[in-house]
Amino acid sequence: MAPSRPGRLPRGARPPQEREDGRLRIAVPVKGRLREPSVSLLEDAGLGPEEPGERALAFPCRNAPVDVLLVRAADIPEYVQDGVVDCGITGQDLVRERAARVEELLELGFGSCRLDVAVPEESQYERVEELAGASVATVFPRITRELLPVEVELVDVTGSVEIAPRLGLADAIVDLVSSGNTLRTNGLRSLATIFSSQAVLIGRVGAAAGQLVSMLRAVVEARAHRYLMLDAPEARLDEICAVIGSRSPSVIPLAEPGMVAVHALVPAQDVWQLLPRLEEVGAFSILVVPVERMLR
Ligand code: AMP
Repeated sequence: MAPSRPGRLPRGARPPQEREDGRLRIAVPVKGRLREPSVSLLEDAGLGPEEPGERALAFPCRNAPVDVLLVRAADIPEYVQDGVVDCGITGQDLVRERAARVEELLELGFGSCRLDVAVPEESQYERVEELAGASVATVFPRITRELLPVEVELVDVTGSVEIAPRLGLADAIVDLVSSGNTLRTNGLRSLATIFSSQAVLIGRVGAAAGQLVSMLRAVVEARAHRYLMLDAPEARLDEICAVIGSRSPSVIPLAEPGMVAVHALVPAQDVWQLLPRLEEVGAFSILVVPVERMLR
């Protein structure tokens, strides 16, 4: 099946709730920030296109009975809710804003951002509560209404939200932020974060996506870890274990008496601070290697 134009399913396309062919259909963002990391997650899980270099907007995967459909990230929560697809990859912000009845099956570890309330640098506002009655521009009216602690006048915009205060359209904005650079560039400062988001695998309520979840989870978990190997004097094993934070790493005797090799999985984000501490407690020949799949 090929959608008639980028990011859109053909009019009236509504497959049956249970697919007769037993294949699972997954929607993936066709463009924007989530596209590349979503496609590479599928690739790393062994779910690349059957035809390498495939550029179609719908294609079967190799290795598993899964079909990928490339559609707009903002449409994915509704497609999943309505059973047009069985599951999809999109942002938690979009799931919440669309109030879609779907299951969040797995946080994917990319597309991290926050929804911040921001005001012009020079404005008097210091706390969100002071915005009661003020005008707030956003493309997230539902989340703003639900999560701002005070009543405000919402100004609906479709994009370029950061410019709204300078145009005199609003006193404040609620918008997605990752580094905060865009806010600063536009002379805005953050008052508060009202929602934190990352990319997520969502599923139709009751869809049989268990195997796909396991395949993706194995990659997401692996990316968050590193495999650490080191040599050390056996006498310093307790100190090494304390630094690694593991009481039962693999300990392998070396040919040299009194020396051991220690192998352990460690969180990827801890590696930079672990290495100097391991050297301090006698570790040497330290190797840190990536993990491809991880099943607990
Ligand atoms: P895009 O299609 O590029 O407009 O963004 C789609 C999704 O990317 C958003 O709904 C968020 O879930 C996610 N995202 C991650 N970081 C950011 C960011 N700094 N600004 C906007 N969206 C972001």
